Amino acid sequence: MKNSLTPEFRKSAPKNLKIIERSDSLYHYARVVSNTRFGSQPSAIVYCRNAKDVKYCIDYCKEENFDFRIRSGGHQHEGMCSANDVMIIDLSEINKIEKVPEKSDQAWIPSGMQLETVYSELGITNQTIPGGGCQSVNVGGLTQGGGWGYSIRKFGFTCDNVLEVEMILPDGNIELVSEMNHPDIFWALKGGGGGNFGVVTRFRFQLSELTPKVTNFALSWTKRADIEYVISTFMNLHTKTGDEELNPALSSSCTMILADPNKEKEKRKLGPGEHSLVDGRMGGQFYGSKEKLVKLLRESYPELNITKKSFSILKQVPKEQAKGDDIKTKTGLPLAPKSSLHRHQAVIADFLNPTSSYQLSEYVETVCADRDFRILPTAPASTCDRPHPHKISSSFPKKFSETDNEKMTKDIYDFMAKSCYYSDVNKYMSFHCLGGAIRKNPENRVFAFSDKPYMLQIQCWWDDISNAFTNETRNTEYVNWVEEFKTYLSPATEGSFINFVDYHLVDNPSTPEGKLELLEIYYGKEKLHMLRKIKTKHDQKELFKFKMSIPPFDK
Ligand SMILES: Cc1cc2nc3c(=O)[nH]c(=O)nc-3n(C[C@H](O)[C@H](O)[C@H](O)COP(=O)(O)OP(=O)(O)OC[C@H]3O[C@@H](n4cnc5c(N)ncnc54)[C@H](O)[C@@H]3O)c2cc1C
Repeated sequence: MKNSLTPEFRKSAPKNLKIIERSDSLYHYARVVSNTRFGSQPSAIVYCRNAKDVKYCIDYCKEENFDFRIRSGGHQHEGMCSANDVMIIDLSEINKIEKVPEKSDQAWIPSGMQLETVYSELGITNQTIPGGGCQSVNVGGLTQGGGWGYSIRKFGFTCDNVLEVEMILPDGNIELVSEMNHPDIFWALKGGGGGNFGVVTRFRFQLSELTPKVTNFALSWTKRADIEYVISTFMNLHTKTGDEELNPALSSSCTMILADPNKEKEKRKLGPGEHSLVDGRMGGQFYGSKEKLVKLLRESYPELNITKKSFSILKQVPKEQAKGDDIKTKTGLPLAPKSSLHRHQAVIADFLNPTSSYQLSEYVETVCADRDFRILPTAPASTCDRPHPHKISSSFPKKFSETDNEKMTKDIYDFMAKSCYYSDVNKYMSFHCLGGAIRKNPENRVFAFSDKPYMLQIQCWWDDISNAFTNETRNTEYVNWVEEFKTYLSPATEGSFINFVDYHLVDNPSTPEGKLELLEIYYGKEKLHMLRKIKTKHDQKELFKFKMSIPPFDK
């Protein structure tokens, strides 16, 4: 394999194609990916502006046998949108939404666009897509991995709303892929994970209405009894189906997070053997008014005594301001990216820092418990504001009777409380809702766990002030915490979500057998078999290949 581009690549390139190579002063900026634990040194980053630019890169790489990776936003948790000595085909400059003529409820949304911009632009006409919970993520990778977010129970995964895809296929052709053209690839793109079947430049989406009023909310608790009640009730509610099913207008998550004992006002006592305080949170989005949300939460969590007074409405960012470069988050970072070069690093607040979240649509209101959310002294204020070193892992419960749910909640609390608290790291467990719209037609997407009530996500995010690339001791310690946590939970859990990817779910993921074992955890046996058949048919020679790509069958 070659490790730098030939001069011919530049010479014959489409006019003004932005190519950043190692010698370029912007190189170290351009190569950064969301998880700064990974510091790959690609040969070049090529910023494509349309499908023809992408085709030019693919044709070159094929001809020259040059290894490449595709990057929309660079958020893949294991840094697999980059590698040493490859060409990164970056799509962040393809970022203009185009409405479909005569179909006001459809739009072409490019892979390189950040959710924050998607929500803002569609919000102007009070429309949306069910995207991710974190608004800095980009459409390309999110959608191909399924796309979980706070509209999932109402409108399904992000991928469920895709009608057509413009992409460059392994044979080098630019095609519109849909149920009519290459339906097998179309299916594989709905949750099969990015980077396997071609380069997607844009998606034609079915848009959803934001009306009637949409309410974002966040609440928190500090007492163990309250936290366990909220989380086990959340699990039980999402287990119910049929007439008893929780109103799908509500999509929410709960979190158990290690809290800062030094900032503790209530002087909570640690239990025997406990090292850390644990806070509980619940947040989400409800398609309805604040009044209706309060009623639903009161009925669903009767012991909590939630009233309208539990929330105060947050100040909204006015529409006209929300477009400029001037808006800052609480941490002082700009909300809108200044340069397209670091679009994949742009800033938006998230659930960890709910007091700085905002929405553009007139129909969206954000309400929040009127209390201190206890952001840790030197830990990231938000996971979505910019790249951070991190490690995450996801799974689903094997069993979910009320007794199982109660035990799972207690076990997780015990593990958290016995974990070491550090002021520079957010350690938490998220419980993400499933059910609602995704119970319908599970065969239409690759996701193999549509019957599960909720998903677990262990998360550990720290900062790189002291240079994560060299601080291996700290990186290892935090990664090990996630490893220990998932081993502790493994008797009660199974499967994993490809968007919340963890490369180390098996002992030897880099061997062919280990890779298959790993992929089976994400896709299940049957759906992995289908994906491999599609790969064999369209990309037997593995033009699209990376550490976790779908392997074809031998012919
Ligand atoms: C802070 C943060 C918050 C997140 N929140 C959520 C969430 O709420 N919900 C959720 O579902 N996920 C979430 N994720 C996971 C995220 O959806 C996945 O990591 C997703 O792959 C990111 O997409 P991307 O385009 O930004 O990433 P990239 O790293 O650019 O791409 C991901 C993978 O897809 C490939 N790829 C990228 N673009 C294309 C393309 N156009 N054509 C073909 N292949 C492509 C890449 O090579 C890579 O393998 C989050 C991740 C982070 C870091």
